[in-house]
Amino acid sequence: QSQEVSQARIDYHVALQSLQEHGTRMVCSGKMHTDRVCRFDYLCYSSEAEEFMFFHSNSSFMLPNLGSRRFQPALLDLSSVEDHNTQYFNFLELPAAALKFMPKPVFVPDVTLILNRFNPDNLMHVFHDDLLPAFYTMKQYSDLDDEARLVFMEGWGEGPYLDLYRLLSTKQPLLKEQLKNFGKLMCFTKSYVGLSKMTTWYQYGFVQPQGPKANILVSGNEIRQFAKALMERMNITLLEEAGRYGGSSEQEKEREKKEDYIVVFSRSTTRLILNEAELVMALAQEFQMRVVTVSLEDQSFSSIIQMISGAFMLVSMHGAQLISSLFLPRGAAVVELFPFAVNPEQYTPYKTLASLPGMDLHYVSWRNTKEANTVTHPNRPWEQGGIVHLEKEEQERILASKDVPRHLCCRNPEWLFRIYQDTLVDIPSFLSVLKDAMKTRPNSKKAKTASTVHPGRVREARCQTSVQTSSEAKLSVSWQIPWNLKFLKVREVKYEVWIQEQGENTYMPHILLQQNYTFSENIKPFTTYLVWVRCIFNKNLLGPFADVLTCRT
Ligand code: UDP
Repeated sequence: QSQEVSQARIDYHVALQSLQEHGTRMVCSGKMHTDRVCRFDYLCYSSEAEEFMFFHSNSSFMLPNLGSRRFQPALLDLSSVEDHNTQYFNFLELPAAALKFMPKPVFVPDVTLILNRFNPDNLMHVFHDDLLPAFYTMKQYSDLDDEARLVFMEGWGEGPYLDLYRLLSTKQPLLKEQLKNFGKLMCFTKSYVGLSKMTTWYQYGFVQPQGPKANILVSGNEIRQFAKALMERMNITLLEEAGRYGGSSEQEKEREKKEDYIVVFSRSTTRLILNEAELVMALAQEFQMRVVTVSLEDQSFSSIIQMISGAFMLVSMHGAQLISSLFLPRGAAVVELFPFAVNPEQYTPYKTLASLPGMDLHYVSWRNTKEANTVTHPNRPWEQGGIVHLEKEEQERILASKDVPRHLCCRNPEWLFRIYQDTLVDIPSFLSVLKDAMKTRPNSKKAKTASTVHPGRVREARCQTSVQTSSEAKLSVSWQIPWNLKFLKVREVKYEVWIQEQGENTYMPHILLQQNYTFSENIKPFTTYLVWVRCIFNKNLLGPFADVLTCRT
């Protein structure tokens, strides 16, 4: 702290002069407010006005320079949740000359990342909306390193998971509330505003019912790299990795030998499993494994993650704690339980995560279908699913319904009523679902070795043609292997050839194992054909098409 203050003092006159002369400078990435992150020199914040400030001088710039479109609806989203009207960022403009009449600015020397946490009380939101996006935003801009300062502008207090946010950088994050302590005007020497949305996979149902995002851009690899980095920073040792890569100490061998175990992640206050002990016994017996119960109320987060990072299976009621499945080892199973009248297909944040390519997790859901096994809480406050505040008729309709209809976030009373039920898990039904699902369990060894390297373009694609008779012709196509193939071990290499008669809008696809082929069926004389060729590795890794060939018979 003292070092920061003295550093700030040394640079103070330079900084002040620079701000007065150059004003604020901004350059952003992204075409729309929903995909924009902006970098600023000398972005300022007035804790009195509770506004960010852009000082115009002769050498300021502002890209994109949107004019008043900057307010339609905003310059950018300050959280990773798309286009949420409580999460917009904008700034106030002032001439640099106005600085003369303002309080002396305090300069923040650290490179700063300014963002909104979306819901820092909820673990799923913490990881999905804040930690992953912030982690990869910091990877995108290299000066956002270990020593970057994070500033949370949503206005909430620390929240229960501030320690997790602390793992992103060695500097203590600042809350909006704390900015006041820096004086009335503070200026960030270098800052980035906004979060990359590249890693998010789920939309919470603000404009359409919740579900996976339409265009998911993250794979299991990036999630696992993030998990690995976080675990290192929590001083958790990856047992699996230690064993696999030459860890040869007796202690490590011992650990590796340790038997598989199942983790039941339990909730202690709401959405309970009423017969948890029975469930634990049943799992232990079925899989002949140790079963460990953890809960956020009883263990530290890092000890829970340590446990999960070596588990064979994670079993839990639907809920935010299931985001911890991102720390499971490859090949593990995620088993999610749903209360009565809640359709697992409609609430899939954890299923979507487990199913990301390269996540290599096996996802299973079970749903309580026996109304007798559910315990409702109609008298609780509405946010915990109470319904007594509703009209009698509406209460009766909800009680009679056996399936929550599709709905928007976040206050649908029927949804809240059902999702906050406690459940007596019917053990035979649970085990039968689980056993069935585990039969089709993908081989984790295969998953581990499956390559994600895509083929390059086939090279030297050529065609030759000949006319046989007035109605028969031949079209020979040949090509060389993609350039990267000779460096790879690929189980299966195939080629796909598309042939289209010029002017037609349909084409014939062909799958071939060799590098040349002569087509004679459906090939007409004196006709122009367009031919595309691409390579395929291991059934589904498609390469790009080579330049189209134009072949005249
Ligand atoms: N939570 C918990 N134990 C409980 C109930 C909730 O640890 O008995 C945690 C939960 O994991 C989440 C937060 O409290 O991080 C909010 O839970 P809520 O039920 O509101 O949200 P959900 O789990 O449905 O996302």
